[in-house]
Amino acid sequence: MRFRVVEIFQSIEGEGSLIGFPVLFIRLEGCNLRCPWCDTTYSYDGKSYKDYPLDELLNIVKNSNFKRVCLTGGEPLLTPNVEILIEKILSIKDFLIIETNGTVFNKRLKATFEKFKNKIYTVVSPKPEVNYKIHQDIFPFISEIKFVVDEFLTINDILKYSNLYKNLFLILQPESNKEIYLKKALQLQNELLTSHNLEARLIPQCHKLLNLK
Ligand code: SF4
Repeated sequence: MRFRVVEIFQSIEGEGSLIGFPVLFIRLEGCNLRCPWCDTTYSYDGKSYKDYPLDELLNIVKNSNFKRVCLTGGEPLLTPNVEILIEKILSIKDFLIIETNGTVFNKRLKATFEKFKNKIYTVVSPKPEVNYKIHQDIFPFISEIKFVVDEFLTINDILKYSNLYKNLFLILQPESNKEIYLKKALQLQNELLTSHNLEARLIPQCHKLLNLK
């Protein structure tokens, strides 16, 4: 069994509520969306990946002393047999972050997520291209919803999922740390709190501020 991997690197978690933790990132190839501000277009250009045998990938995971692994993309849940990769990684490590746009889910993934509910930290970042749609089967497994605050995001897009916010982190992330979107994020944060009694955390892309990968 082989997997298309664009890059493997060790860094800090640069986004969301786990910011600052050391993480081994595995970026899988392919994405079903084409967001206008995507900063990882190389993850789906069809030429930047290498085929890794499963054993080789697992050896890299085994040989890293980092406690946290992150499967990212692209859209990692599109990868054929990704549920097997998830299970194998979790036989080595106790904490797996999965960064997904939330549009792709199936029965095999559901079974794996159920089995490893306490070990998988699922970050869903809904995207404007699909009107912020999230596959409803992934709802029970979401640890964090992260909205990129860009020209498209509105308060109503965030409120679509207001029934979920009791049990997870709601993050606002200004697109590419731009000042204009920082201001918009502050406004949204204030409106969520004052008009809807919802607390969101405003978190920039820390790795970009620090010039890290
Ligand atoms: S879902 Fe993520 S990887 Fe895919 S195009 Fe959008 S930002 Fe890029």
